[in-house]
Amino acid sequence: MAWFKKTKKPMTAAASAKASRVPEGLWVKCPDCSQIIYNKDLVGTMNVCPKCGYHFRINAAERLRTLFDGEWTEYDKGLVSTDPLRFTDTKAYTARLKAGFETTGSKDAVIVAKGEIDGLPAIVAAMEYGFIGGSMGVVVGEKITRAIERAIDERLPVVIVCCSGGARMMEGARSLMQMAKICGALARLDRERLPYIAVLTDPTTGGVTASFAMLGDLNIAEPKAQIGFAGPRVIEQTIRQKLPEGFQRSEFLLEKGMVDLIVDRREMKAVIASALRFMGVAKSSPAAPSLPPAMPPVEPATTT
Ligand SMILES: [Zn+2]
Repeated sequence: MAWFKKTKKPMTAAASAKASRVPEGLWVKCPDCSQIIYNKDLVGTMNVCPKCGYHFRINAAERLRTLFDGEWTEYDKGLVSTDPLRFTDTKAYTARLKAGFETTGSKDAVIVAKGEIDGLPAIVAAMEYGFIGGSMGVVVGEKITRAIERAIDERLPVVIVCCSGGARMMEGARSLMQMAKICGALARLDRERLPYIAVLTDPTTGGVTASFAMLGDLNIAEPKAQIGFAGPRVIEQTIRQKLPEGFQRSEFLLEKGMVDLIVDRREMKAVIASALRFMGVAKSSPAAPSLPPAMPPVEPATTT
């Protein structure tokens, strides 16, 4: 007989160790510089580490709060996926949708709203990573497309804050079709000469990068955000080569010309507002639309 018996079960990893990087509790440890930060201090810094500038992931509602002046009007809040393929992997897709709703309070992975950024009216779509990894399914595609169409009708600029793992596998080809649908709407927005700014946050990957995330008149990234199509491990295994330092990070992409600017979250609103002003967006007045109507296309001069 053993002298000592283990009467207690071994300690298991805390439940908080799973996916979410959104800080919870009174104190939070910065994953980058290991500084222990008082949670309330993070609220004041928009969830950016005051010591090293690490950007904690924030949810879609918080994102809108950092960008809009005050209240905003949300659109298409009630749209839900119908689970067209009746998909089940380790869990039924309907159960994943339900869990996503329970953790985020949102019915899909994007919030679309109209509000004012530093006095300038704009339509903003903010993606919600907490909802099935911010994946783009039929609902995300439809909500963003409607947002762009609304912007065309009301002659407003569009800002899309990307935070996504890519297309939603559980909706198969239908999720992939959203890429073309949104890009088509953006092309119409472009033809109407209305500005579109893409904000790339950690992570922006897969079908989102391969479509609207890279199509902004201005593509702005947050510092050290992971931005790419396939994950680095997959690429490494495919090409059998070691990837360079900082691969798929904002700074690397800026150097290679894939993004235009890297902006700290605390300055994001001011930078977007000044860019919109530069692009001709004026403060809202009830009488006039914010942007002048599109000019007729200029016929190229023919030389014969
Ligand atoms: Zn830090």
